[in-house]
Amino acid sequence: MLGTLYIVSTPIGNLEDITGRALRVVGEVDLIACEDTRHTRKLLNHFGLKTTTVSYHEHNERERAGELIRELQAGRNIALVSDAGTPIISDPGFRLTRLAIENGIAVVPIPGATALLTALTASGFSAAEFFFAGFLPARAAARQAKLLELATIPATLIFYEAPHRIAATLRDAFEVLVDRPAVIARELTKLHEEFSRGTLQSLSAQFSKAGAARGEFVLLISGAAADHLRPAESDSAAKRLAERLSELEKEGVEERAALKQAAKELGIKRDEAYRLRLAQKNRRSR
Ligand code: SAM
Repeated sequence: MLGTLYIVSTPIGNLEDITGRALRVVGEVDLIACEDTRHTRKLLNHFGLKTTTVSYHEHNERERAGELIRELQAGRNIALVSDAGTPIISDPGFRLTRLAIENGIAVVPIPGATALLTALTASGFSAAEFFFAGFLPARAAARQAKLLELATIPATLIFYEAPHRIAATLRDAFEVLVDRPAVIARELTKLHEEFSRGTLQSLSAQFSKAGAARGEFVLLISGAAADHLRPAESDSAAKRLAERLSELEKEGVEERAALKQAAKELGIKRDEAYRLRLAQKNRRSR
């Protein structure tokens, strides 16, 4: 008999958010594979559970996944947990789950908290369609390129971000996506839970202040507005804009003024013209 691999969600802050089913499963399995055994041990101690733990994190994922598969093949049941929320969502576990499926092992999800959905439900943004992009790249150029890729998606955009990068990310998002409604969900389910609602520009100003960026954050950005140009139109608009800008530059018109004038002449919104121009520059520099 093969064992079962349970993918178990744990709280993202408030310990009351663990489900009864999650507690039963982590109490009954033979082994818990966790990102940080000390962290998970605290959770287990809180609920009086003594199940054996083994580490499974991004640095030992490759060899540990094979070992865990052998345990499952020997009939042992394993629960996979991460430090917070749902494993695999911007956390380790994908490799193990894939291997389990390839080896005919049952994979059973035990649902619970995840920061992206917790943030989305109280954001006031549409959840009819949303795009979760995880963490943006750490380097500014790669981050801006990624934001450009997402710029025309007409669905709510959701990102995870680290406190030391939130100010830079908001600045880049404002630059690339121009001013859109945005929400920062901070310290969800914890004592100092807070939703900051505004626009990319106002939040960028707020979070660039010293000391503003403490805690854990989810950033939500309203999707591209219905009146945003679609990619095909956007391509031809970009071409016309580039041509007109190069003419104006030859005439000696300064860049900002040229962009304003060209946008007006071509009937393109000024923020859209700015975005198209930035996209062209980024493409050239890659
Ligand atoms: N697996 C987790 C989940 O299901 O949400 C996410 C793990 S990821 C390594 C950690 C990131 O999730 C944090 O940097 C933050 O962006 C977000 N996050 C986790 N807990 C949070 C909380 N309580 N409040 C706000 N954001 C949180």
